[in-house]
Amino acid sequence: MTDLTVPGGVRTVLETLWSNGHAAYVVGGAVRDSLLGRTVNDWDVATSARPEEIAQVFPAGRYENRFGTVTVPVDGLDVQTTTFRRDHLYRDHRRPDDVTFTDSLEEDLARRDFTVNAIAWGREASAQTAHFVDPTNGTADLQARLVRAVGDPATRFDEDALRLLRAARFAAQLDFDIEPRTLEAMRGSAETVRWVSQERIGAELRRMIAADPPSAAFVVLAQTGLLEHALPELAAQRGIAQDKIPGHDLWMHSLTALDAAAAIDPGNQMLRLTALLHDIGKPTTYANGHFVGHDTEGAKLAEALLARLAFPRREIELITALIGQHMFNYESRWSGAAVRRFVRRVGRDRVDDLLKLRAADNVGSGLAPNAGKLDELRRRIDDELRSNPPLSLSDLALRGDDLVTELNIKPGPVVGRLLERLMSLVIADPNQNRRDILLAHATDWLARETKAP
Ligand code: ATP
Ligand code: MG
Repeated sequence: MTDLTVPGGVRTVLETLWSNGHAAYVVGGAVRDSLLGRTVNDWDVATSARPEEIAQVFPAGRYENRFGTVTVPVDGLDVQTTTFRRDHLYRDHRRPDDVTFTDSLEEDLARRDFTVNAIAWGREASAQTAHFVDPTNGTADLQARLVRAVGDPATRFDEDALRLLRAARFAAQLDFDIEPRTLEAMRGSAETVRWVSQERIGAELRRMIAADPPSAAFVVLAQTGLLEHALPELAAQRGIAQDKIPGHDLWMHSLTALDAAAAIDPGNQMLRLTALLHDIGKPTTYANGHFVGHDTEGAKLAEALLARLAFPRREIELITALIGQHMFNYESRWSGAAVRRFVRRVGRDRVDDLLKLRAADNVGSGLAPNAGKLDELRRRIDDELRSNPPLSLSDLALRGDDLVTELNIKPGPVVGRLLERLMSLVIADPNQNRRDILLAHATDWLARETKAP
């Protein structure tokens, strides 16, 4: 094995550096993923050229940070080009206090986290052909499907606690095992994960969720003790009894629901995350074998957790809304109006996710995905929505402004109350959604309200 297929733009970057007298290699995830036949996300090039020399040969390059990375845009690709470096002294278990540039590729590879991330492909300027450089035997670990720390695992995790989460994430993403000594060191260093910023934990969580099966990373987190330090709200689910699948505690229920969510709608990352978090309110609401109010409590806890991990507002809103509504209880005797009220409460664009969440929850409870007449509910929702009934204030045949002018009232809480009542009315009977009819009702209600003692 001597060749790596690289896109034209990356080739250009390498050739340019070589012809200017610099050593240059493709490194890191790109080499790893190419050798595994996986899609490469980003191409990193390591070079002996100093940042100012990189900038010199690539006038379009953007010099981005003090670690000497220049982003070179070529052929629609952003190639991160970084000077070979050595790290020094990680006093905060997170970032090196200092980095030194070096001319040695081997030194650069030695500071990398895992052997499968420490393979390079390229050449010195003076060499004839590009080749692989693999001083830590990463290729063998790729073959054996192992995540193994470069050097002494305990030291490497102690230097940078983010590597603990990366190990769990890579194991899940690549479907690899963690080499036993590396795993042992993860256990030993687990509590240092508190040095990792919440935002980075959030970013890793996002990637863990995306793996298939998504439970894989969480099994590692739980097994190494990382879970209780990185995501304590999830760790609290361990050991909470459930009477669903024999032998399954609440944590196993959540992981089973998570994997089921991935099977039900593979591309839906938010559904995965919601499934993982949907019962997060159970540990604190448990009393006498019941979890009263765990949906509302869970929505609150998920909100706090996701905000802490710096998830975007829009995602937090979706997830907490789904968790808050996940205990609905459909029955065949629901009227058409009841089905429409349900859709309104959940939100038309969220109802599909809520039913998928229930299907995942069902699987996590040892039931058929459609238990609880879920398919019947889905069919009835489709039937109701086909005629496009009014479901939100913006669908009303009358606006707040109309009420203000026509009824000669002041804008304020009264208007909101009237609109809500009109909304209930048209949800119960969509035929009432006509401007004249609604106005008549509003006039009537207002008259009664003002007459009342
Ligand atoms: P992906 O981009 O798919 O997450 P990657 O391996 O490319 O995987 P990056 O975070 O892009 O990961 O980092 C690029 C390379 O830099 C890694 O392959 C590894 O060699 C090195 N690296 C990144 N983070 C660390 C770290 N915390 N400690 C040591 N080496 C690291
Ligand atoms: Mg990368």
